[in-house]
Formats: sequence, structure tokens, C-alpha cells
Amino acid sequence: MPYELEREIALKAVLKASRLCRSVQANLVEEATHVKKDRSPVTVADFGAQAVVSRDLMTHFPADRLVGEEDAADLRESSNMKIREQVVRHVSAIHPELSDDQVLAAIDHGTYAGGPEGRHWTLDPIDGTKGFLRGDQYAVALALIEEGKVVLGVLGCPNLPHDATPREGERGCVFTAVKGEGATMRTMEDAVEFPIRVTDIDDPTRASFCESVEKAHSSQSDAARVAARLGIEVEPFRIDSQCKYAAVARGDASIYLRLPTRKGYEEKIWDHAAGAMVITEAGGRVTDVRGDELDFSIGRTLRDNLGVIVTNGRLHDRVVAAVRSVLGV
Ligand code: AMP
Ligand code: MG
Repeated sequence: MPYELEREIALKAVLKASRLCRSVQANLVEEATHVKKDRSPVTVADFGAQAVVSRDLMTHFPADRLVGEEDAADLRESSNMKIREQVVRHVSAIHPELSDDQVLAAIDHGTYAGGPEGRHWTLDPIDGTKGFLRGDQYAVALALIEEGKVVLGVLGCPNLPHDATPREGERGCVFTAVKGEGATMRTMEDAVEFPIRVTDIDDPTRASFCESVEKAHSSQSDAARVAARLGIEVEPFRIDSQCKYAAVARGDASIYLRLPTRKGYEEKIWDHAAGAMVITEAGGRVTDVRGDELDFSIGRTLRDNLGVIVTNGRLHDRVVAAVRSVLGV
């Protein structure tokens, strides 16, 4: 299989980071939450997960760059010493050999600007921080981009039920996809991987769709208009993070809508690269609201795209047409 070593290392790194996130979530206390300058909540787990994944990539693929969501600037400030200590403590449980400076350097490895040339990885150490803080869904999302195209994606979803039908039960899934090789799911505990596939629904009235919990991230009112136009009857399935890509990829839902809430917002590559690979390899499709392919080759954001539409493939053209007419784009 192409990218065999990359797949193995990425999967292991995402599993380690997912376990770190779980252990932080298990004793989530007020002081573990720190408000970034842009006011989005970021936790010890974001930094810790980025340190762990980044360190593994630096060790195994020293020539590769990384576009990561976090950097260690805030952690270097003396006012954040307590958080820094917690980050180092959690990373030490996995990499006891690392000094404080090495942990911070691993986090700062993620500052690459991205672009069309060569290879780089992109990481969202905790996608859906708000879901994480609420005890809901979140994901560790890692992807490899080569010459501007995504070729490998791994999504760790530590809180996602193994099976969508009884929503209770065992949790923790990891999704992996390599370009041209299909997509698989395994649980966090068991290494056996199962192929996954989107639904084969081609009647939109039988489809269900997912969207963000956070109203600020996707227009729920426009999505309701799109759903009405398509004749979708069931209520939207709201979950945080790229778990939405995973939900469509394994057939829990057939559509994921991410409709712009404000002018000028540029989607981040780490919020979509891993999910896009998983959905494509599971037989689905992803474009922006105008039906254009997502362009991962122009830096840290998808600035040439607007919003995101994910489907099982069969429904794609009709969903795009409905979105275009509702949004007037
Ligand atoms: P979700 O959990 O799907 O709601 O998405 C979480 C991600 O939304 C975060 O990782 C942010 O990068 C991203 N985000 C923040 N603000 C916006 C916005 N205005 N529109 C779309 N996505 C956003
Ligand atoms: Mg994110």
C-alpha cells in the first residue's frame, strides 16, 4: 500500500493524542481551560495533543513540515506557567524523555505556512474544542498533503460511539483513509480495522443531515431552508468537529452542511483535510457551497472556497443546487 509507513505512524500518533485528550477530559477542571487571545477556549489537551503528534512526525519524517492549529507562544508567557506544567506532565506520560523546551519546540513545529509544493502535514489537535469542554464530540485530525492534494487522513474521535444506532455504549473510534485505498474504522481499544462506506440513499427525502452544534460555525437557519427545499423530514443531527465527516463516511447520516455565517471567514485546512480524505475514500464527496473542489494548496486556509458540503456522493449535485439557490451563490 502507498504511504504505508506514514499511515502507521499517523495512526499511532493520533491514538496517543486521543488517549491524552481523554485523560485530560476525565479530570477537566476549571484551570485546565485557558482563554486564547481570540477568546476561543483552548485547553491543556490541545497543546499536549499537538506536542505528541508533532514530536512523532519530527522523529519519523524529519523533512516534513507541519501546519498545526496551535503554537507555544502563549505557553511561554510566565502567566501561563501552570498550564505549561500541566501540558508537560501529560506529554511526559507518553514521552518521558522530553524536556520542557522540547515539548514547546514540538508544538512550535506546527507553524508552517502550507502551500502547493512538497509535503506537509496538517493537524487539528482538538477539533471541536467547545464540544470537548462540554463533554461532547471532538476529534484529533491529522492529514498529509502532497503537492497541494490530501493523500492521507486520520481522525481520532474519542467520544464517538462505536455504533451509531444505540447511541450509548462503547465509545472511541479512529478513521483512516489513504488516497485510492479506501477508508476504515477501528475502535480505540481494538486494532482490527473495518472498511466503511457511505449510505446509498439517492432520495433526499430519506436522507438525514448533520451540522455544527455551534450556531456561529454554520448557519442553522440556512440549513433548515436547504433541508425544506430537499424535502428532508428528520431533524438535523448536531455534533461538533470532524466527527460529522466520520458520521457521513460510515453512513450514520448522508449529508453534512457547513454554511457560512459571516462574510470573510476562511475555513482552516486542519478543519477539513483529514475529514475530506475519509469521506472521499468512503465513497462520498466534498465540495464548497458552489460545488467547487476544496483547494488545500494555498496555505493555512481554504480562502478560495466558501463553506463546505459533504454528501454520500449520490445526493451531491442536488444538495449543491439546493444550497446555491437558498444562498444565492
Ligand atoms: P464545528 O465543531 O464543526 O462547529 O467546528 C469547529 C471549528 O470551527 C473550529 O475548529 C474553528 O476552527 C471553526 N470555526 C470558528 N469560527 C468559525 C466560523 N465563523 N465559521 C466556520 N467555522 C468556524
Ligand atoms: Mg478545529
